[in-house]
Order: sequence, then C-alpha cells, then structure tokens
Amino acid sequence: MNRLGKKSVLVLGGSRGIGAAIVRRFAAEGAKVVFTYLSSPDDAQALAAETGSEALRADSGDRDSLVELIVSLGPLDVLVVNSGILGAGDPLDMPPDDIDRLFRINIHAPYHAAVAAARTMPDGGRIIFIGSANADRMPMTGLAAYSASKSALKGMAKGLARDLGARGITVNVVQPGPTDTDMNPAEGPLKDVMHGFMAIKRHATGAEIAGLVAYLAGPEADVITGAAYNIDGGFTA
Ligand code: NDP
Repeated sequence: MNRLGKKSVLVLGGSRGIGAAIVRRFAAEGAKVVFTYLSSPDDAQALAAETGSEALRADSGDRDSLVELIVSLGPLDVLVVNSGILGAGDPLDMPPDDIDRLFRINIHAPYHAAVAAARTMPDGGRIIFIGSANADRMPMTGLAAYSASKSALKGMAKGLARDLGARGITVNVVQPGPTDTDMNPAEGPLKDVMHGFMAIKRHATGAEIAGLVAYLAGPEADVITGAAYNIDGGFTA
C-alpha cells in the first residue's frame, strides 16, 4: 500500500486510540507522519518508534502554541484533527472552566489548526476532522457540551469546504460511533446501553475508523468535500 506515499501528514492527538490507529494507517501507506500528544509521552514515543513517525508534544487547548507548531512544520498535504475530550456529567454541576476547555480542544483547535494549515497547504490538500455520531444523535444525558462541540465540526467543514474549494482542498468530518479506546472501552459499563442503539452491536476498532480517514485522504476522494460520514454500526440509523 503506497497510496499516500511521500504525503506530509499531521495528526493532532495521535498517541492513543483512534489517533494512533490513524498514524499507523498513514505510515503503512507511505506517508511522512507527524503527530501530537499531550499527556502520554511513553505511548507517543513507542508509536513513533514503531511507525517511523515523529511525535511532538502540543496541547490542542493552547491556540497560539498549536498554530506556531503548524507554521513550523511547513506545508502539509493532510491535516487530521483527532484530539478531543469527552467531559460527561450533569450540566448543572459541571465547572464552566471545564466546559470552556472542552470547547477550546474540540472546536477552537480544529478551526485554528485548519486555517493555519490551509495558509500553506498545496492544491488538492485534505483536512479531516474526527467528529462523532453524537453530532447527529444524542440519546443519553450528560453529554450536551460534547455533542454540541461535535455538531460544530459539521458547520465548520461545510464553510471551510467552500472557502478552500477553489484550491481543490477538501474538508470533511468522520463521525465514529462507539469505538474501542481508552475513552470508550468495548467492555466498559455503558457497553450494553450503547449497543442497544446500534444495528451492528459492537464497538468499532480504531483501524476501521482509520480506513475511512485514509480513503478521504486518498486520490479517489478528490470531489468529496463539506461532508460528514457516520461510521457507527447504525447508531444514527
Ligand atoms: P482517547 O481518549 O482514547 O485518545 C485521545 C487522544 O487525543 C490521545 O492521543 C490524547 O493524547 C489526544 N488528546 C486529547 N486531548 C489533547 C490535547 N489537549 N492536546 C493534544 N492531544 C490531545 O480518545 P479516542 O481515541 O476514543 O477519541 C479520538 C477522537 O474520536 C476524539 O475526538 C473523540 O471525541 C472521537 N470519538 C471517539 C469515539 C469513541 O467511541 N472512542 C466515538 C466518537 C468520536 P494524550 O493521551 O497524549 O494526551
């Protein structure tokens, strides 16, 4: 597999879970991959060694540092914004500062990273946000801020798709359903509740999500833009 050979790829939040699966997939397809991490340096360094990619520490919640990093990397062919946090609880009890940080990481970072990358991205580049099926269906309590943040990515992708379309740059959202990671373990306490909402009653793997991301980054997806794809076992069906 060398569909993405020599492409310069940045994955924000690549040390674990879906992001790590995306790093593995892009590296296997021949891309030159850089990824960021925040709290998991050991995982990040192990993944970098395994895949021949480069790990850089950068907090997606710190706009200026994030933009500075993107500028320092030079032109990117592909930007994947995967870093995201959950933050579940009764909205009447959740500290406002925690909600603001969630919005900074889940909404502000994708926007500012995409704009910073777009300044130097070559024609035909790709921007891919990892959203959530919760943008389209929120059947549980306690996740209003999270689902709001993931819905924002859909509007963002549509607008940026218009802004960047003349340069052949596509902007899309991949919206996973329950996927087996530290954030949402396949054997976690909410497993049966979540599977109850699904047609295919199992968590996805990170590799399955990475497959769709790789497709959108590849040459067959030139005219897919401003779109959001659910990959969720029918969670939103
Ligand atoms: P994990 O919590 O398992 O992993 C999150 C990754 O993002 C880690 O690599 C983490 O790095 C990184 N990250 C988190 N915050 C920051 C930050 N401030 N700066 C830099 N990196 C950061 O999550 P998942 O793999 O499950 O989720 C990945 C994405 O997929 C998220 O956007 C999530 O909302 C979305 N998603 C997940 C679903 C699921 O069921 N798992 C379902 C739908 C959407 P580090 O550990 O180094 O801090």
